[in-house]
Parts: sequence; structure tokens; C-alpha cells
Amino acid sequence: MDLKQYITIVEDYPKEGISFKDITTLMDHGEAYKFATDEIVKYAEKVKADIVVGPEARGFIIGCPVAYALEVGFAPVRKPGKLPRETVSVEYDLEYGTDRLTIHKDAIKPGQRVLIVDDLLATGGTIKATIELVEELGGVVAGCAFLIELAYLEGRKKIEGYDVCTLLTYD
Ligand code: AMP
Repeated sequence: MDLKQYITIVEDYPKEGISFKDITTLMDHGEAYKFATDEIVKYAEKVKADIVVGPEARGFIIGCPVAYALEVGFAPVRKPGKLPRETVSVEYDLEYGTDRLTIHKDAIKPGQRVLIVDDLLATGGTIKATIELVEELGGVVAGCAFLIELAYLEGRKKIEGYDVCTLLTYD
């Protein structure tokens, strides 16, 4: 299935110069959404993941149906102040300044094989921070799966050595 036809490109959103890839038009199409989910499920089976982790908010949209299909757990990665219990956190760089991501301290058991899922790989900052959280808890990153990769931003370079699966690439 050609998934690209379901992605809507919105130029200059949220600010000038950004070519935003809107996945909501893929989610609108049940068959395309299921196809994309199934592809990531196949990858998760290949890398033998036994838990899925996804950063808010679009990582939930892609990651939760994958966890459901695999019958494994899903652990959310969130901005500070959103998770109610004890967390670990990591700071990461944005284009201007820094931000922070958090995960519940007991979300992953040491040695668990983790699939990290997000909608899109851009500069790689978000995935790198998520990897750090998973590893701090003793998880093993089995792989990283994305619906979309913006290859020109070279996010893969930030996570060299980790297994990466992307369904769609924009050069
Ligand atoms: P990065 O940390 O630079 O790899 O950015 C990845 C995160 O930002 C993902 O969670 C995406 O949802 C979001 N993102 C970055 N760039 C775009 C874009 N051009 N279109 C849609 N989402 C984006």
C-alpha cells in the first residue's frame, strides 16, 4: 500500500520553513492506519520486543495499537508534570533551548526488550532522549520504529548503532 498518499503536507506550519507532515489524514483511513500498524507489528516481532514505549502525543497514536496487537504493555513518555508517580527525566536540545521528557520509574523492568515508536523521525532529539530514559531504567532498546523519516535532517546519525525501521521517507 502506498501510504504517502494519506499524509498531508502543510507548508510553513507551525512556523515558516517547516514542512509539517500531518498523519491525521492517514488515521482517518482505517485501512491505511491498520496497514501502517501491521507493518510496525511485523518489525516488533522481528526484533522480539516485549514492551512498547512512545513519546507524547503522536507516539501514542502509533505505539498503542502496536502494543495492543502484540499483547504487550505500552509505557508513555511525557513532558514534565504529566505523570503522577515517581519519574526519571532527561533534558534534550530543541532548535532553540532545551526541553525535558519523563517516564515512570517502574515503567520498564531491567532486561526488557523495548520497541520505541513515534510518528516521525526529524532531527532525532526526541528518540535519543527516549532511548536514554529506557536505558536508565535498564531496558534494552530492541528497535526504533517510525511512520515517517525526514532523511534530510539526518536523525539516524544521532542514534547510530540502534536498529531503525521507517515506513516512509522524505528526502
Ligand atoms: P525530532 O526530535 O527533531 O526528531 O522531532 C520528532 C518529533 O517532532 C516527533 O514527535 C514529531 O511528531 C515532531 N515533528 C518534527 N518535525 C515534524 C514535521 N516536519 N512534521 C510533523 N511532525 C514533526
